[in-house]
Amino acid sequence: MSLLAFPSRIRARVLCDLPLAPLTTWRIGGPAQYLVHATSLRDVADTVAACRSANLPLYVLGGGSNLLVGDDGVTGVVLSLHAMKKMQAFGNKVHVEAGASLGALVTRCNQAGIGGPHGLAGIPGTLGGALAMNAGGRYAEIADFVERVVWLNPQGELESLYREEIAFGYRRSGLRFGVVIEAVLAGHRARPEELVAKSREIMKEKLAVQPYQEFSAGCCFQNPMGGSAGRLIELAGCKGMSVGGAQVSEKHGNFIVNRGNARAQEVLELMRQVTLRVQQAQGVLLKPEVQMWPARDVLANAA
Ligand SMILES: Cc1cc2nc3c(=O)[nH]c(=O)nc-3n(C[C@H](O)[C@H](O)[C@H](O)COP(=O)(O)OP(=O)(O)OC[C@H]3O[C@@H](n4cnc5c(N)ncnc54)[C@H](O)[C@@H]3O)c2cc1C
Repeated sequence: MSLLAFPSRIRARVLCDLPLAPLTTWRIGGPAQYLVHATSLRDVADTVAACRSANLPLYVLGGGSNLLVGDDGVTGVVLSLHAMKKMQAFGNKVHVEAGASLGALVTRCNQAGIGGPHGLAGIPGTLGGALAMNAGGRYAEIADFVERVVWLNPQGELESLYREEIAFGYRRSGLRFGVVIEAVLAGHRARPEELVAKSREIMKEKLAVQPYQEFSAGCCFQNPMGGSAGRLIELAGCKGMSVGGAQVSEKHGNFIVNRGNARAQEVLELMRQVTLRVQQAQGVLLKPEVQMWPARDVLANAA
């Protein structure tokens, strides 16, 4: 595929061979063959159509806070919606575009007295990524507040879905198979100062137990039913284990941190070793939570 496959009106927003590492919180990974910065629904639709007609893989990039990009990067098109970040609060609802940061969304809801999303405080990334991953934690998950989502479905058609029509699961949703454009979230009326105080409290809790100042992608593995992956990893004696520049955090067993120059291959190998150790020690097979570009099977990773 050459640049000519993109409609002329968006060609100026297409970057070639662009390093993806700086666009991820792990700071790991090779370049994207093409990266498109969409500024409108039309840009998104044109990019999706170009990929479909050239039969090229499409990857949608949010804040890169749950992503492991391979060392060789990705062949195909990476679509960023960062420039699409408008937000408008009305009553107990907020209308927000996919590229808006989740932090900005929480702040806006708190200021507007919209309670609920305050429980998502401290989760990095964008609204689009949060909906694709059903981001959340102890206090809330984003699916709790979804009223409606507009997306380009896997067939490239624009659709508006109500909450009940979306397959949300634990740290997963069917929305990651398309492109989320915007959403309407609904919370409950609450006093702004209380929401701000609760969000601060949640952030404080996270800072105490998670290595926020280091390069990571948050929790690497999903929690098994009723358990904590971090605790299992700790019990299996994996805290502090390292492969090259990748290390299981000493602060939180489910975080792998990049100590400066880790490669994706090293993270994968460390994830494989941790998976095997936990399986041997506790008989639990951990499943990755982080998304891998291109898709990889951790256990098939060569040692
Ligand atoms: C320090 C730290 C703490 C974290 N804490 C938490 C936590 O408490 N709870 C939690 O759930 N997660 C947590 N995470 C993980 C991460 O922040 C979330 O999963 C986040 O929602 C990912 O959003 P993103 O925009 O960064 O998505 P990305 O990492 O860019 O992408 C993740 C997936 O979403 C897809 N995607 C992104 N945008 C769109 C879109 N517009 N349409 C369709 N698909 C899209 C991507 O294609 C990819 O499959 C943490 C991460 C870090 C680094």
